[in-house]
Amino acid sequence: MSAPDRIVVSDRLLTMAGPEADAMQGVAIVGDRISRLVRRDEVEALRGPDTEVIDVGGRPLLPGFIDVHAHVEVACRAAYGTVDCRAPECGSVAEVLEALRSGLDERRETGWVVGQANLFFDRKLKERRLPTREELDTVSEDVAIAVRAGGHITVLNSKALEVAGIDRGFAAPEHSITGKPAVERDDHGDPIGIVKEMDSLLPLPAQTPAVVEAALEEGIRTLFTRNGVTTIGEISETVEGLETMDRMARQDRLNARIHAYLWAPGTMSLEQALDWRRFIALEAGDADVSIQGVKLFCDGGYSAKSAAVKQPYLGMGREHFGDIALQRDFLLEAVPATRDAGLQLAIHANGDRAQEWLCEVIADAGGAPSSARLRTRIEHAGNFRPDKTTSDWWRHAGIVPIPQPVFLYTFGDYFGDYLGDYGTQGRFQFADLIADGWNLTGSSDVWVGSEREATNPLFSIWCCLQRQTYDERFIDVDQATTVDQALRMHTINGAEVLGLAHEKGSLEPGKLADLVVLDRDPFAVAIDDLRRIKVESVFLGGRRVLGAE
Ligand SMILES: [Zn+2]
Repeated sequence: MSAPDRIVVSDRLLTMAGPEADAMQGVAIVGDRISRLVRRDEVEALRGPDTEVIDVGGRPLLPGFIDVHAHVEVACRAAYGTVDCRAPECGSVAEVLEALRSGLDERRETGWVVGQANLFFDRKLKERRLPTREELDTVSEDVAIAVRAGGHITVLNSKALEVAGIDRGFAAPEHSITGKPAVERDDHGDPIGIVKEMDSLLPLPAQTPAVVEAALEEGIRTLFTRNGVTTIGEISETVEGLETMDRMARQDRLNARIHAYLWAPGTMSLEQALDWRRFIALEAGDADVSIQGVKLFCDGGYSAKSAAVKQPYLGMGREHFGDIALQRDFLLEAVPATRDAGLQLAIHANGDRAQEWLCEVIADAGGAPSSARLRTRIEHAGNFRPDKTTSDWWRHAGIVPIPQPVFLYTFGDYFGDYLGDYGTQGRFQFADLIADGWNLTGSSDVWVGSEREATNPLFSIWCCLQRQTYDERFIDVDQATTVDQALRMHTINGAEVLGLAHEKGSLEPGKLADLVVLDRDPFAVAIDDLRRIKVESVFLGGRRVLGAE
C-alpha cells in the first residue's frame, strides 16, 4: 500500500459516520480519496517521505458541506460588478442612495449602475417601502439605475425607464422567463419606477464570456468555498455557464463540485434536456461537473402571491389561491421520461396546494423513482405545511422534500402578511418531520438578492436551531433540530439526496477527500454563536482550496 499523500490530523473528528469513526484522529488521503481514518499514534508509522502531515489540533475536521439547491451562476453574475445595497447594512433609503452614489464613477461608462438588494426589501428598509424613482434620480439623471430587490421586483430611475422604453404607452409583455411582467403606474399612467418580472427584458449591460468566468471564480470563492461548501446542486441558468464551470474544473479553478439540474424551459426545453449531451459539452468528469437532473416549476412564490395555497391570499379583493403552473399531461410524461433518461426531477412547489397536486400527479404517473439517485425532489416543500396531509402526500408519491432553513430568517416574518393566521401555522416543522422519518437537507437557494449569509451552512445550521427571523422574532422554537441533525442535513443527507452518499457526505475510507476544518466546535458553542463559526481550511479531493499553509 502506498504511503498517503497527506494526513490531516484533528482531535475532533465529526465524521457523520458514527461514534467509532468520530473516536479516530484524522484522515489519510491517497490521490483524491480518503484511504483510511487514523489515530494520532499511527501517523508516524504511516507517513512516507513525501507525505504531508497537517495537524489542526483540537479544531474540528468534518466532511465538506453540501448545498443541494443553489443558483450558482445567477448569484455569481448578480453579485459581480453590482453595488451591494442589501439590508440590514443598507438599512434605509438614504443608505441605499449613498451606496449607489459610491458606485457611480466606477460604472458610469457602462451606462448602468445596478444595485443588488434583498428579497422583501420593502419590509427590510427602515421606511418599510422601496426607494422611489425620484429618489434614485437624485443619484443620477444621466446614468441608468436599477435596484434589483430579489430578482422579481426592480426599481428604476428615470434614465433606466427611458432607455428601457418604459413610458406611459408601454405595454408589458404577457410573459418573461420568471413570471408575468408588470409596471406600476401613478394616477396619470406614468411608470413610478417599480417593475416586476422585467429583469430579463431590461437592456442591462451584457456580460461577456470573460465576465461570466470572472464572476464565477469570484462568486464561488466568496459564496461557497469560504463557507466550506464543496458540492453544489446547481439549478442551471445557461449552457454557457455550465460549460464555463466545466472548463474551470479542468483547470482546477472551479473549487467546488457542480451537479446541475437543467432548468426547463429556462435553460432548454424538457425535450432537449432529455437529450442534453447534444447541447452541452462537458469534459471535466462526473465527479467535478455533471448533469444530475431537470428542474421544473409547479408554482410561483409568496412575494408575488403566486405560490399555490389552500387558503386565499389576503388583500386581493377576490379569492386568490395562487396558480399551478404545470400541465398535468406534461408532468405525467415528464416523470417516466426523465427517469428513463437517468435524470432526477427537481420540481419547485412552494404552496401546500401545489405540493399536494404535484404528489397526486406523480403518484398517478406510477410514483417517484425509488433509486436514491433519481428520486423526485420537491423544492421548498415545507416552506408552509400547516397540516400533516401534505407530508402524507409526500410519502404516498415517494418524493423527497428539499426545504431551505435560511428562509425562516429571510421571510419567516411575512407569511402572516400574505395568508393571515393560516400563514403562521406550519413553517418548516423540522423536529416533527425528522421524528416522522424524513431525511431533511439544508440548502441555500441562493439567487439574486439572497441574504449575505445564505450560502454559509453554519448560518443555515444556526437557522435550524435558532429559528429566528430577520425582525428577530422566533418561529416555533419547539421545532428546532439538534446540532447533530443540522450538521447531517448539510453533509451526509445532502449526499443522499444527490444519490452520492457512496462518494461523499461523511469521512469514510474510499470517499472523496472533501474536507473542512472549523475554528470552533459546533457542539461547544452557544446556539447563537453557531453562525459565527468560521471555516479555516477546505480540501477538495485532497487539494487545499482554502486556508494558508
Ligand atoms: Zn431555487
